[in-house]
Amino acid sequence: MDLALLTSTLEELGEPRYRAGQIWRWASRGAPGFDAMTDVPVALRGRLEQSVPFSSLTVEQEAHARDGTIKALFRTHDGRPVEAVLMRYPAPRGSRERGSRVVGRRSLCVSSQSGCPLTCTFCATGKMRFGRNLTASEIIDRALHFRRATGPVDHAVFMGMGEPLMNLDGVLGACERLPDIGITHRRTAISTVGWIPGIERLADTPMPLRLALSLHAADPALRSQLMPVNDRYPLPDVLDACRAYYERKRRKVFVEYVMLAGVNDAHPQAAALAQILDPSIYKVNLIPFNPTESQFQGSSPKAIEAFKAELERHGITATVRLTRGRDIDAACGQLAARAQSMNPAPEGLRELVARP
Ligand code: SAH
Repeated sequence: MDLALLTSTLEELGEPRYRAGQIWRWASRGAPGFDAMTDVPVALRGRLEQSVPFSSLTVEQEAHARDGTIKALFRTHDGRPVEAVLMRYPAPRGSRERGSRVVGRRSLCVSSQSGCPLTCTFCATGKMRFGRNLTASEIIDRALHFRRATGPVDHAVFMGMGEPLMNLDGVLGACERLPDIGITHRRTAISTVGWIPGIERLADTPMPLRLALSLHAADPALRSQLMPVNDRYPLPDVLDACRAYYERKRRKVFVEYVMLAGVNDAHPQAAALAQILDPSIYKVNLIPFNPTESQFQGSSPKAIEAFKAELERHGITATVRLTRGRDIDAACGQLAARAQSMNPAPEGLRELVARP
């Protein structure tokens, strides 16, 4: 919902100032439409229905993976495909009760741009045309979609397509609203290629957001090959900015490292990674590669475990990311990249494994 449009519409209609907050409270708690807002006058609900779209996005497709992951493809008002993934995890032992149901973490993965101006060579989004920055409403409306469809959502990661720190206005605008939906700043992570001006601006906000850095190679030449942005913002400078972020926020920075067979997964590369990371600042998350149309192949589970062990031997905490939603192309940009390449006929979507 476009809150600026809502506010200006209410003003034009001569409504009291508290109305916008009242309506947003309903929306952020999962109301399906204006009509459900029972303490808003009926006539006003009708007027709003005509002048304020309940969502800035229309849902085009939804795919359900066998592991409970849901991926949705939306269109913006100007026809751009954007996606979002909801990862639902089993309730941990001793977990909290929500009403009569016990639920585990529900994490939203959301994109910040349509396409991406960066060209990481292993990433499906990097091959798409860059469209534009998404607005705060276009980000928030995906959280609201899942809030309405499946109940509370408690984590968010900006790890969908695009570079969030190149769209800080949209991303920070959304982050300010996410707690109303149930996603606190501490449970919101922003992943970046290492866009230094963005890291600095993020450090200046009062929000204790989690920073995640896509590192992928400690060696400068290899990193530049995988992520050409490394030529503009070289890794040593990026690590300085991350240290400054840590010092301001006192929140560990998560390093993302996508495991590419025979490219960045050898033992000496783990040792080199450990060498440049201060264990008091960084935690490493090893990401199994989700195959895209590229020359790359994912490392074997054995190679990933060996890499992890080598990091740990050097005192670095490392985890391996659980791969989720593989049967529905849940990796960054995969669904929207297809939707763009086949625009306007969404043929490839029929291949998705849709659960009845
Ligand atoms: N631009 C931001 C956020 C988007 S991608 C960034 O780069 O951090 C989120 C993470 O997914 C990044 O670490 C990215 O490198 C990784 N990624 C992209 N394509 C992938 C793929 N096919 N398999 C596994 N991880 C991938």
